[in-house]
Amino acid sequence: KLYNQVQDLKGSIRVYCRVRPFLPGQTSALTTVDHIEDSTISIATPSKYGKEGRKSFTFNKVFGPSASQEAVFADTQPLIRSVLDGYNVCIFAYGQTGSGKTFTMMGPNELTEESLGVNYRALSDLFHLSSERKETFSYKISVQMLEIYNEQIRNSSQDGINVPEATLVPVSTTSDVISLMNLGQKNRAVSATAMNDRSSRSHSCLTVHVQGRDLTSGATLRGSMHLVDLAGSERVDKSEVTGDRLKEAQHINKSLSALGDVIASLSQKNNHIPYRNSKLTQLLQDSLGGQAKTLMFIHISPEVDTLGETLSTLKFAERVA
Ligand code: ADP
Ligand code: MG
Repeated sequence: KLYNQVQDLKGSIRVYCRVRPFLPGQTSALTTVDHIEDSTISIATPSKYGKEGRKSFTFNKVFGPSASQEAVFADTQPLIRSVLDGYNVCIFAYGQTGSGKTFTMMGPNELTEESLGVNYRALSDLFHLSSERKETFSYKISVQMLEIYNEQIRNSSQDGINVPEATLVPVSTTSDVISLMNLGQKNRAVSATAMNDRSSRSHSCLTVHVQGRDLTSGATLRGSMHLVDLAGSERVDKSEVTGDRLKEAQHINKSLSALGDVIASLSQKNNHIPYRNSKLTQLLQDSLGGQAKTLMFIHISPEVDTLGETLSTLKFAERVA
């Protein structure tokens, strides 16, 4: 059964949509989300956005505002197991700033056991599953936290230093990883105050490398997992920003469309996959396509005033699905 699950996922791209709940104090706000059912989300579109009515989008699954972190992670679990079998896995969080990307990947600021995000759950599963196999396999697990900002890659566990060849940190427990991620977050937060929430304008990538050795045959395997909290997908108004802010926006725009192009070409099984068009797709080249497995969580804010961005997020997702 497990073999079949892995076969089903092979080379495939899965897209999940998650709708953020209204935040405390927003109880009477109006929503664009008309209806959610299983794998379909239907958005109410007022006449301002063309013909008045509803637009429906279908993905692998749609998680409504009350979906738990556990439920959101559930379908990801078979992918984690496959990393220990030597597969490469990429998990992306896409959406406009404030739509819940970091909540899905990390969790809220005040973490509880229930609110732990995909990163923690994935790592903890990896450790758990690898120790279950310890009679037959020996695994080495190491991680690195990278940030891509303005088409430059930085190792976010080393404050402010530009490190193209990021150091891999060996880890053996979830708490090792949590402290590494906290360090990464802290460094991101420092830059955030200094540079007006830069975290929403950089891609943050937690990469996990797994080396396994079969204790009887001595055969080795390598698997990897990239967990990517993407920069906010919102379009900035070119008439309103200039200088650094405009440059940042152009870089984000370029790398998100490059990612969309790569995933769309993969799902159409094109011969040419345009990996070279951004740092992000270059970094992930070996982990996107071929036997690799890709999963994207796209995030929707519920408020009416985000309708434009909501529709553009859904259209992006529809194209890569
Ligand atoms: P992003 O990373 O896309 O900018 P965040 O993850 O920071 O967005 O989410 C914005 C705010 O909404 C945060 O305060 C976060 O805790 C809250 N939030 C996001 N998703 C959820 C959710 N599913 N349930 C409860 N609160 C959420
Ligand atoms: Mg965020």
